[in-house]
Formats: sequence, structure tokens, C-alpha cells
Amino acid sequence: MRMSGIDALRAQLSGRVIDESNTDYDSARAVWNGEINRKPAVIARCTGPSDVAAAIAFGRERAMSISVRGGGHGYWEAALPDGGLVIDLSDMRGVSVDPGSHRAWCSGGATIADLDVATQRHGLAVTGGTVSHTGVGGLTLGGGFGWLVHKAGLTIDNLLAAEVVTADGRTLGVSADEYADLFWAIRGGGGNFGVVTGFEFRLHEVGPLVYLGLFFWGLDQGMEVLRLGREVAASLPRDAGLLLAAGLTAPAAPYVPAHYRGTPGFGLLVAGFGSAQEHAALIAPIREALPAMFEFVTPLPYVELQKILDESAPWGSHAYEKSLCLRELSDESIVAFTDLIPRKSSPMSFVQIFPLGGAFAAVNDSDTAFGCSRAARFVVNTVAVAPNAELLATDRAWARSAWQTLVSHSSDTGGYLNFLADDDSDRVHTAYGPAKYQRLAQIKARYDPDNVFRMNPNIKPAMLQKP
Ligand SMILES: Cc1cc2nc3c(=O)[nH]c(=O)nc-3n(C[C@H](O)[C@H](O)[C@H](O)COP(=O)(O)OP(=O)(O)OC[C@H]3O[C@@H](n4cnc5c(N)ncnc54)[C@H](O)[C@@H]3O)c2cc1C
Repeated sequence: MRMSGIDALRAQLSGRVIDESNTDYDSARAVWNGEINRKPAVIARCTGPSDVAAAIAFGRERAMSISVRGGGHGYWEAALPDGGLVIDLSDMRGVSVDPGSHRAWCSGGATIADLDVATQRHGLAVTGGTVSHTGVGGLTLGGGFGWLVHKAGLTIDNLLAAEVVTADGRTLGVSADEYADLFWAIRGGGGNFGVVTGFEFRLHEVGPLVYLGLFFWGLDQGMEVLRLGREVAASLPRDAGLLLAAGLTAPAAPYVPAHYRGTPGFGLLVAGFGSAQEHAALIAPIREALPAMFEFVTPLPYVELQKILDESAPWGSHAYEKSLCLRELSDESIVAFTDLIPRKSSPMSFVQIFPLGGAFAAVNDSDTAFGCSRAARFVVNTVAVAPNAELLATDRAWARSAWQTLVSHSSDTGGYLNFLADDDSDRVHTAYGPAKYQRLAQIKARYDPDNVFRMNPNIKPAMLQKP
């Protein structure tokens, strides 16, 4: 049965309104994670703040569950409500750059690739994720780290202003000077506070040509690789980025010798944003310390570096993840990693270890709402990825038990909102810690007292909390 008022909504919006009567309904409701198969009643493809405000009013009048979709890469299944309303920003992908002031204005539904391509025309960039089809919206609101985190900090550390449509339909320009409380909350508090229709970022000079060193070892060398990665991370210069990949499967890429393709192992990926000589000096000790099974060292455009892991996470993958932030990569954790890797079943599953430092560590904990403490030096993400639901079921159990083991070796440093899945709802509070959560809950009460934006890792308005 068709929902009442849907034609009126269609007439009101400049963007499309999609429901089950539309032939592209199934593709419109699809998100990156093939495991999420929900059937919203209405998908409002908004084109700007007035569309967003009209869609919010429509949903509120009907007491619908309202969700917001940026790039569609979220792990939170309930973010796509059955029978609810999706405020879909995927037609809002424009990016404009002012090279003189090193600033970019990015629409709320853009992908990292949209942002990179536009900024790189001017040799500029802002920290984005390591998979280019991820959305800027969700990534930024939770924090955002990638290759540039040492050089430029988190994506939110470079957010200068934003345009936010609040639950009552107002469009607010927020920055350090205007609605400063809301500006603080959206830098780490996720989609809890409103629909962000535009982000203004500070940009940094990057590339266009940068450097990659990818080193790959077999499963039997995991311990040495992770210890080496820990050493490289400890002295990583700001002009470099590092990713440790445990359990990575060597891809069928031209740079991988044919007989190693499909082999599971441990990888170190070192990106350099300075000169070729600086990158060479950075990777020389790696070669010396531990000769790799194969390596791939090359200059490449920054936009290509940003896509280097895209194929490891194609649209429609069935995925689940469990993460934690660590102050140190202890020997005990390293032993645990090497022990758990051979127990995974899907070749696509692996453990990502993102070192954090440099510009990330130079920001105070209280400056933003980011969950993990700035004292954290690694974000560890146990990622179960599979081509089908059956294989995912096996590796979901693997990811959960691996996480339990790792937790026993970790100190409490909070958690990264963007790596939480629905069964982590009790971790939202611990991710922030009591003081930060309380501050967020008070801001939530000011801007969304009825908890309209609750289909997410939810921060409850202060007055709705149990005493
Ligand atoms: C393959 C893959 C790789 C990843 N790599 C990284 C990485 O390298 N670094 C990293 O930091 N994270 C990474 N992530 C995590 C990623 O940051 C989160 O999944 C993020 O939520 C994705 O944002 P999205 O806009 O694509 O997703 P969506 O599912 O569209 O959004 C997720 C949630 O964010 C909120 N939201 C999104 N856009 C808006 C908006 N404009 N206004 C208000 N609320 C909004 C909504 O609550 C929504 O439910 C990765 C995720 C995947 C799947």
C-alpha cells in the first residue's frame, strides 16, 4: 500500500522520491554492505537543504524512523530502517575548491573520490579514508583517518565549517564562531545532530605525485612483520602514512608475481608525501630488516594511492567489523594477531592496523568529539569480508572472538564510532567515555530533543537518559 502524502512530497522536492512503485527501488535501497537488506518505505533523494527540511517534516509528521545516507558505507544495519524514510544525499556530490585559501566546499553526499579528484586538480588534499568509494559524510562525522592522518590529522581536524539541517528544519551555518557547540559535536559525534548538507575543509599541499612502498610476507613471518611495523610507526615522519595489514590476500594485480597471487600473508604499506629520496630513506630499513616475498615500490598519483585498496572492498561485499583503539602494539597483541589470522575463512577478511600519530596526536582530546583518545597510537579493525552471507557468518564469529582476545591485551582508549556495528550499541557510551558522552547528550538535547536522528550509533538527548 502506498504511503499517504507521498505525491505531495514528490511535488515539494526538487530531487526524486523513490518508493516500491519505482523500478529502481532495489538499486536505490542497496548499500555497500550486501549483508544489509532493508526495505525503507520512502527514499528522498534530496538536492539541497530545503529538500532535506521537507523530508524531515514529512517523516516527523508520520512518526517514521528517519535515516540519513551519505556514501552508503556505514556498518550500522539499523541505519536503513524497514518501513522508514531515508534522506538520501547521494545526488549531492558537488565539490568546489578555492586554491588561494586552500579550502574546499564539499556537498554532504560526496564520496572520497569526488573530493580527491576536485582537490587534486590544484595539488591539494584533505585526509580521507583508504577506500575511495566511501562517503565523505559518514566518514567525517565519525572522525576520518587515512593515509594523511600523520600529516594533516583526522578529517574533522580540518573541518572549518558545515551547513547543518536540524531536526526542526532550520539550516544552520556552524563553525568555531557560530553554533560552536554543534560544530564541536559533529566533529566525532556522527549523524546524531542533523543532516550535514555541506562541509568546508582546510586543504594541504599533497602530490599530485606521491610514493608507495608495499611489502608482503608469508603467514609464517607475521610476528617479525608486525614488530617491524611497530618500529616504523614509532618514528613515522609527518610526511608519510602507514598501514599494517594482517591476513591480507595478495591480489591478482600486475605487480604481484603470478605464483603469489591469492596467497595470504602480512603486508606493510608505506606512503610518502615528501620527496622520492625521503620515501626511499623510509623504506630502506624495511628492506634491510626483513626481505619480503614481493614488493611494489612506485611513484603514483595521489588519487591512485587513494584507490589502491578499492578492489579489496567491492560494493555488495558481505561485511562485519569489530575494532578497538590501542595505546601500544604490545608483544602479547602481536602474538594474538599471528595466532588468529590463520583461523579466518574468507580470503577477503583481514585485520587492519592504522598507526596514529603526528598531526593526530597534536590535537587535544577535548577539542573535538572524536571517540578514541588522542593518546591512542593504533586503531585495530578486525574486518570480516566475504562474497556471500554463509562465509561471512563464519568470519563474523572469527572477528568477534579475535576482538575478545585483543581486548584482553588492551588498555581502555575509547572507540571509533565509524567502526561500530549494531551489536556494539552498548559500546557507544564507552567509546566516548562518560564526560564526552554527557557533553554530547546535552548538545543533542538542544538540537534534537526528540531524538529524530536515532538510526545510528545513538547518543540519547540528556533529558531522555535514565537518572
Ligand atoms: C570499505 C570501507 C572502508 C573504510 N575505510 C575507512 C578508513 O580508511 N578510514 C575511516 O576513518 N573510516 C573508514 N571506513 C568507515 C567509514 O568511515 C564509515 O563506514 C562511514 O560511516 C561511511 O560513511 P558513508 O557516508 O559512506 O556511509 P553512510 O552509510 O551513508 O552513513 C553512515 C552514517 O553516517 C551518517 N551520515 C552520513 N552522511 C551524513 C550527512 N551528510 N549528514 C548527517 N549524517 C550523515 C548517518 O548517521 C549514517 O547512518 C570504511 C568503511 C568501509 C565500508
